[in-house]
Amino acid sequence: MSFQQCLTCKENVRYSTKLTSIFFGYRPITCKACGTVHEVDERYRFLFSLYTVMIPVILVYIITAIFSIESRLVQVLLVLLLASGSVFYAGTRISYYKSKVQPTKKRSRNEV
Ligand SMILES: [Zn+2]
Repeated sequence: MSFQQCLTCKENVRYSTKLTSIFFGYRPITCKACGTVHEVDERYRFLFSLYTVMIPVILVYIITAIFSIESRLVQVLLVLLLASGSVFYAGTRISYYKSKVQPTKKRSRNEV
């Protein structure tokens, strides 16, 4: 199940918020409504570094071999294109959990 809403108050978490988090190195997401901090699931970090680095590089390697593209610039651009595509995909699949370190002002007792 992908992360769609705050785990405490069910406030919707926007897709763009998740993308921003991913772009800034999986920055924790803080719920605007209740202030609960959510962190990226470690397994997803690994999985998405695979998606955003390994797979684009391998694909471009294959594509440039097939079409015999010699230009280094085109290769780099293709990698960037695929990598950013992967980030958008990651945004739909990424999962967060409630951080153990919450802002101190109110520690919620209703954790599951
Ligand atoms: Zn919330």
